[in-house]
Amino acid sequence: MKTRYLRYAMLVIILGLVVYLALGYSSCSFEAFCPFGGMESLWELATVGEFSCALGPLNLSLLLALLVLVLVSKKSFCGWACPIGFLGELSGRLGGKVWSSRPQINPRLNLYLKLLRYVVLILALVFTFKTGELILRGYDPFYVIFSGLGHGTLGWVSYGILAVLALGALLVPMFFCRYLCPLGAVFDPLSRLGFIKVTRNSEKCTACGSCSLACPHEIPVQSVLKVRHRDCTNCLECVDACQESDALKVKITL
Ligand code: SF4
Ligand code: SF4
Repeated sequence: MKTRYLRYAMLVIILGLVVYLALGYSSCSFEAFCPFGGMESLWELATVGEFSCALGPLNLSLLLALLVLVLVSKKSFCGWACPIGFLGELSGRLGGKVWSSRPQINPRLNLYLKLLRYVVLILALVFTFKTGELILRGYDPFYVIFSGLGHGTLGWVSYGILAVLALGALLVPMFFCRYLCPLGAVFDPLSRLGFIKVTRNSEKCTACGSCSLACPHEIPVQSVLKVRHRDCTNCLECVDACQESDALKVKITL
């Protein structure tokens, strides 16, 4: 059975839970489950001893738990639990069916564009630390989508941002995760260290390239013996795509 079915089942359950919370069926806000909220609260906690705006201890606990998870299994949260990553991945698959050939981003430009997620991270933290409010909510797709353009969103500006992200997701696989996700930027330094990773057995590998083609983050799996890349989410699409028995395996290794 393809690992994708298991992964998508988990993502559907998590997406359903977030929608359940967002529709107000629980006293708990869906924002309480945003791990990036833990980052946004750090300054307020350190200086005033309080959480910013709608955030609370759950956000911080989730952030800490995820940092440990990244050290164990790279960005697994992004591939197995993040609702925005899931919507982005589905959009990317749809885009792959709509356009027979998608625009190829020059590798150097791709690298530069990935720096944008650090810019987003710095802006989000500076604005939140300075104001003590989540004033960038209107630009945050997680909040804009699940609040149904609720309090703090910016009307047409938020619609425009969603439209750009949707178009980007259709054109470039994992557009938001690749270029704009501030939580991904927080995970980056630890992700390279994650010790559960995909490994390639060069004796079994026929160099067909299917693994690299299947990777939503365009990681050249075919060219490495261990996938240490910071963007790897351990989604196992590459393992699913490989036809050679035992050529790709998930291992605990440095
Ligand atoms: S899909 Fe399998 S056989 Fe093909 S290049 Fe990747 S590891 Fe090698
Ligand atoms: S290298 Fe494999 S496991 Fe990592 S993101 Fe790409 S397809 Fe997923």
